[in-house]
Amino acid sequence: MTYHYGDTEQISPHFRALEFQCKCSARHEFQLDEKLVELLEKLYTALNCTAINVSSGFRCLSHDKAVGGSGTGQHIHGKAADICCIGQDGQPIDSRLVCIAAQEVGFSGIARINATYTHVDTRVGHWYGDETQGSNYCIPCNDFREYFGIGKEAAPMKKGIDISYCQKKVDWNAVNAEFVIVRAGYGRYSTQKDSMFESHYAGAKKRGIPVGAYWYSYAKTPEEARREADACIAVIAGKQFEYPIYYDVEEKDQLALGKTKLSAIIRAFLERVEAAGYFVGLYGSYSSLTNLTDESIRSRYAIWLAHWDVEKSPYSGAYGIWQYKVGTAAGVTGDCDLDYCYVDYPAKIKAKGLNGYGSTHPPADTEPEPAKGVEIELTIDGKQYKGTVYPK
Ligand SMILES: [Zn+2]
Ligand SMILES: [Zn+2]
Repeated sequence: MTYHYGDTEQISPHFRALEFQCKCSARHEFQLDEKLVELLEKLYTALNCTAINVSSGFRCLSHDKAVGGSGTGQHIHGKAADICCIGQDGQPIDSRLVCIAAQEVGFSGIARINATYTHVDTRVGHWYGDETQGSNYCIPCNDFREYFGIGKEAAPMKKGIDISYCQKKVDWNAVNAEFVIVRAGYGRYSTQKDSMFESHYAGAKKRGIPVGAYWYSYAKTPEEARREADACIAVIAGKQFEYPIYYDVEEKDQLALGKTKLSAIIRAFLERVEAAGYFVGLYGSYSSLTNLTDESIRSRYAIWLAHWDVEKSPYSGAYGIWQYKVGTAAGVTGDCDLDYCYVDYPAKIKAKGLNGYGSTHPPADTEPEPAKGVEIELTIDGKQYKGTVYPK
């Protein structure tokens, strides 16, 4: 379609013609490919945008050259747009995610321009590029997910619960949580095993629900934290956990110690339990993680963020589990804590052979399968060869 300069026509639900006109001073008419607009609408929906800003649409030959183009690209045909997608939070969406979504909706030409701008076009043929690596850099595969390393490891969100002696009655047949974090115990002595730990662990295992554990801390020094670690290790020994072993630090007199001392306590526990072959993490509130925990701990260990009754926590660091509120859960009598998990911990933990999945306790289902060979026969220079080929 050809449009005249300044055409305000609404050409689709979220775009008007003039958004695509040439940005040079000549105020000339311009071309716009209908397919481009159709795919941009799909992209808008796919990314749940609040806006897509077009920084460059049609470009006449002289303008294309003026902005560094070759004069042979898709912009001169009205088949391309450089865009910035705006999310529900009003912020630009990472262009890596835009590239992936653009691939999903079917743009044939896509390139990351910078952190928030993306080039998309409807060319005949195919071009996936990354201009942050050079203006004509073509990505070495046909999949932005693979190229950016995004999505492959992004697990679907799972809903879980965490329970302790507070939940005395659990009907495991009715539980529909996708994972359960169980309190293993508290303090410095292994005799301080949670009174419901064995029962909760066995109940979840019987149903095949992945389990994690946490140790409730009272430690005021790293030395006490190491004793708590030993008590925790003694209690969880011989069991298998598909989710991390968390250190729960939330006592008022601990938080009053301040960031430096508290971080030393946390590190002492986590290092000790990790050294015993466990995938470890830290449970903490938004404020204690933000204000009282060293960045080196927050970026190094799995974080279980407690932040109740907010739409989305403003916590700035990465976290694998979010305890989002206290509520009711199927099968559990009374209230319990409710959690969302964003990381595939079972896969990570089993792959690393941790949490009882290592060689010291080989579970039957992780024995490596013998490699399957393929029988082949071939003839080379009139001679017959026969054999079995094994995959690497
Ligand atoms: Zn122009
Ligand atoms: Zn472009």
